Amino acid sequence: MVDLDELRREIVLAVSQSKSPREFLRDRRLRELYDQIKSLPPVERGSFGKQINELKQAVEQAIAVRLEELEKVDLKPIDVTAPMDVNSPKPELLPSEQGTIHPLSAEIERISEIFNRMGFVTEESREIDDQFHMFESLNFPKGHPARDDYDTFMTEETDSNGDRLIAPAHTSTMQNRVLMKYRDNLEKGEAIAAIVPDRVFRNEDLDARHEHTFYQVEGVYVSRRVNVGNLIATLQEFLQEYYGKKLDVRVNPFYFPFTEPSFEFALSCPFCEGKNPDCKVCSGEGWIELLGCGMIHPNVLRAAQIDPNEYTGFAFGCGIDRLVMMKYGIEDVRHFESGKLDFLEQF
Ligand SMILES: [Zn+2]
Repeated sequence: MVDLDELRREIVLAVSQSKSPREFLRDRRLRELYDQIKSLPPVERGSFGKQINELKQAVEQAIAVRLEELEKVDLKPIDVTAPMDVNSPKPELLPSEQGTIHPLSAEIERISEIFNRMGFVTEESREIDDQFHMFESLNFPKGHPARDDYDTFMTEETDSNGDRLIAPAHTSTMQNRVLMKYRDNLEKGEAIAAIVPDRVFRNEDLDARHEHTFYQVEGVYVSRRVNVGNLIATLQEFLQEYYGKKLDVRVNPFYFPFTEPSFEFALSCPFCEGKNPDCKVCSGEGWIELLGCGMIHPNVLRAAQIDPNEYTGFAFGCGIDRLVMMKYGIEDVRHFESGKLDFLEQF
């Protein structure tokens, strides 16, 4: 015969430690007790049944107490300053609740990785700079009309020359620093090869294709006997690697003060390849203007104390936002800085 007091203690203890105490309402041992009633002589059945009912009530009460306890645990406020328990299991999150890397950050990583494999090092830009790096070192002397093309944000602060500090309007502000930093490479017979993917700012009227804050990747390559063919081959190689397919490029002459000759580089539309007159990305033209580039102007090399008679090089500046928009068919550049979850969760 089962010791009912013993059984009650066992089940009540188990309930008090259980995370799902309701399961004990269907405990096998309780069901077996009810089955036993039938095997007893009729005179004993009444009192045994009563004892089982008392046991059952004790279990139900223990379950109620335990459920209340569990609820309190759930409601306990989280102390965000408490040291982390490294042994506790990670909470299970739904994929949509897990943060994701911002699409621009992820693509900047990919872009860097491709250029790194091609032998370029990655350098960082800055978010406040001086006018020497934005203009003078890039062959825009004071009063040069092309300075106005950049819609540059000026700050109230001035540098030692009394010129107002600026928010860089292109990553080319880093060209002089990159050339100076790696100038010794040339004497060792190696090339200067660097990219600068970073944030730039312009006082633009905002629309689907223009943001006041956007990203560029600057590229600088200097060595002996570098020519336009090297420039085109490098950009073509990068773009094919980035889009994962062979794409036609179109190179048109252009004007920048810091490159000579200068070009605008267009890519055949990776969505329609010029075959869809209603294509939203290229407006049916089949070409997308993607970046500005050219052979580094001798004055820019001189500003970094590099002899332009010995060394030549190319530079390019490519809009990262546009590169990514084309890759994923994103129709509005303003999505990137919007912080909208329904956009970000797609990446
Ligand atoms: Zn198209």
